[in-house]
Amino acid sequence: MSETNNGAAVNGGSSLFPTYARYPIALVKGEGSWLWDDQGNKYLDFMSGIAVTNLGHAPKPVKDALVKQLDELWHVSNLFHIPNQEAAAKLLTDNSHADQVFFCSTGAEANEAAIKLARRYQQKVKGNGRYEILTFAQSFHGRTLATLTATGQEKVKEGFLPLPEGFRYIPLHDIDALEAAITDKTAAVMIETIQAEGGIIPVEPAFLQHLAKLCKERGVLLIVDEIQTGMGRTGKMFGFQHYGIEPDIFTLAKGLGSGFPVGAMLAKGELSEAFSAGSHGSTFGGTPIATAVVKVTIETILKEKAADRAAVTGEYLISELRAKLAGNPFVKEVRGRGMIIGIECTGPVAGIVAEAQQRGLFVITAGPNVVRLLPSLIISREEVDQGVSILTSVFADQTAAAQL
Ligand SMILES: *Cc1c(COP(=O)(O)O)cnc(C)c1O
Repeated sequence: MSETNNGAAVNGGSSLFPTYARYPIALVKGEGSWLWDDQGNKYLDFMSGIAVTNLGHAPKPVKDALVKQLDELWHVSNLFHIPNQEAAAKLLTDNSHADQVFFCSTGAEANEAAIKLARRYQQKVKGNGRYEILTFAQSFHGRTLATLTATGQEKVKEGFLPLPEGFRYIPLHDIDALEAAITDKTAAVMIETIQAEGGIIPVEPAFLQHLAKLCKERGVLLIVDEIQTGMGRTGKMFGFQHYGIEPDIFTLAKGLGSGFPVGAMLAKGELSEAFSAGSHGSTFGGTPIATAVVKVTIETILKEKAADRAAVTGEYLISELRAKLAGNPFVKEVRGRGMIIGIECTGPVAGIVAEAQQRGLFVITAGPNVVRLLPSLIISREEVDQGVSILTSVFADQTAAAQL
């Protein structure tokens, strides 16, 4: 019962912790780019569960593979060989420069594994005692104690002191600060190729390329957090592929399982010996079900050319938004890469998001002033046009209302 000991109702009578400011909508069905609520209302989905359902809701090949696996085997311990896990890892390494994969269940857990691998490699393999992890202002890396410490935003840290030691933050795109921050204590630098939660801020190629070079020269590992940008979202399978760099470690989650919870940490072969038997683990990491889903998700992304489609559709979506929102005084900039797009405004956009919902379109914020669009990678041109039409009418009406 949701009552305190003295009988007062807690959290509006809900038995859940009030950790989310939830919209007043309960979704009960999804198909492709469409969602339905418990009142029978239909919505066009331009948020994909925050870059998770990259192939749309309930994509048939994934559903078929999941159902088949449910008939065969759900869970065994990682003390056994898991053929699906081997096959999913092989698909990931065949389609990237990485040589080794560790499976887990969430993004934070993947970043946690990356941080642990970087420290252990420096300390056990290189024997140099480097432990410090450098990250960037406005970054987001997760909610566990280590990953919220890695996150360059104060709001996620409030009330959780003391935080783990060995993290430092540098302003993005500040090469001098970066050069100065790297010392003989630095184990790794961790970066997103597009700061997503931070406001859809693509990292400048010259900066990331310089960072990669600097890491190589100074014996520092480069970790790229691809949790939101990976799996075709930016128009390539992984966001760093736009930069011609090869991070030592990168992490995946969100789009990796089409909605089934699964994460992965991938690394170059040299780092392999840092994670020996017993050094890291996770009960649910890479179960037969999770990795059946990863396997079919990657196969479907490749077969459907989902990354290429995201590049083409994303370019169209960005140009349509720029054209239709041109001259709107509330809109500062439309930016993005592939199907991760931000509309930066001159003020708070929560009202835009709420009004779009009223008109049957789901979008989200990325920070207070940016509307974030994350449609399915294989959404149709017609659906994109429908979404743009709703969004431009919301912008026009809100701006008109603000000027009254
Ligand atoms: C969502 C996200 C995470 C955290 O993933 P969880 O699955 O919520 O733990 C970490 N980094 C980035 C860039 C993300 O977008």
